[in-house]
Amino acid sequence: MALQRFPRPVAVVAVLALLSGALWASGHADDVLVLFPKKLIRRMGDRTEAMFPVLLIAVALQIVWPAIRRSPKAFTTEYWLDVYYWYQSAIFKALGLFVMCFWINNKLWDGAGPWIPALRELPFAAQVLLALWLKDFVVYWRHRFEHTFTPLWSFHAVHHCATQVDILTTHRLHPAELAFGILLNAPIACVGFSPAATALAFTIYGEYNHFIHLNVKIRMPGVLRYIFVTPFMHQWHHAVDEAAIAKNVGVVFAWNDWIFGSAYHPDHWPEKFGFTGPPQEALPPENLLRHWLYPLQLLVARVRARFTSHLNERSAR
Ligand SMILES: [Zn+2]
Ligand SMILES: [Zn+2]
Repeated sequence: MALQRFPRPVAVVAVLALLSGALWASGHADDVLVLFPKKLIRRMGDRTEAMFPVLLIAVALQIVWPAIRRSPKAFTTEYWLDVYYWYQSAIFKALGLFVMCFWINNKLWDGAGPWIPALRELPFAAQVLLALWLKDFVVYWRHRFEHTFTPLWSFHAVHHCATQVDILTTHRLHPAELAFGILLNAPIACVGFSPAATALAFTIYGEYNHFIHLNVKIRMPGVLRYIFVTPFMHQWHHAVDEAAIAKNVGVVFAWNDWIFGSAYHPDHWPEKFGFTGPPQEALPPENLLRHWLYPLQLLVARVRARFTSHLNERSAR
């Protein structure tokens, strides 16, 4: 029983070492790209490095102060798949940044310039806050559509098949969803904020996304719950519970959920996590090939269902 509550020291050290490796790789993937276009990538690399110790503390917190106690996830198939997804994200992020910066540098900053040049005149902190707000607002609606529009859900379902939600779950994403999310950064970077402000805003967003996935007992007191998303809110986003489906879709600022009617904030913590779609469309948490092919599988199932009901209607006439 004690083992179930507290992972063995060897397992803890191994998890931290593996996670450190993944985080180091994700930080240095950006560094490599300093060779490529200009300031945005370099700034992003610097910021990611700076967050490294903070993330290690966060992981330790998950172990000593978990919101949901459960048997250790380390070295299960689901765990190894999460580690894979972590590296996938690092690689895609690096490639995406390259494409994005190349495009921005060559097509925009060296050509017509940013869309709203006056933004660059604002104080640095205001630029960071505005860029962060814009990024979060765009992601809120993207995420909301992912939960309401079946073709998008067929990709996002991969993120929701995790049965143990923690910091590693952050990057459990279908490659197509990941690529789409990265490409959505490009227009935000073109609006007109300085590269340093844009990079800092994107980095804060990325690290905050890690934070809300932590399995740590953190809720916001009082009015703050209307401002910031917490691990509590996002754990509910992943919960298997009818009342919480497609709720708490925000990542950084909680006000979008409260304003647009998608907030769910009960008094207790959720207990069960995983896939929330129809049982016949269930997606296993530990089968990579099934994850990749899931959009195709869902499309075939839907077309077949339509075809069958059409045939049934015709034969009934
Ligand atoms: Zn979701
Ligand atoms: Zn999530």
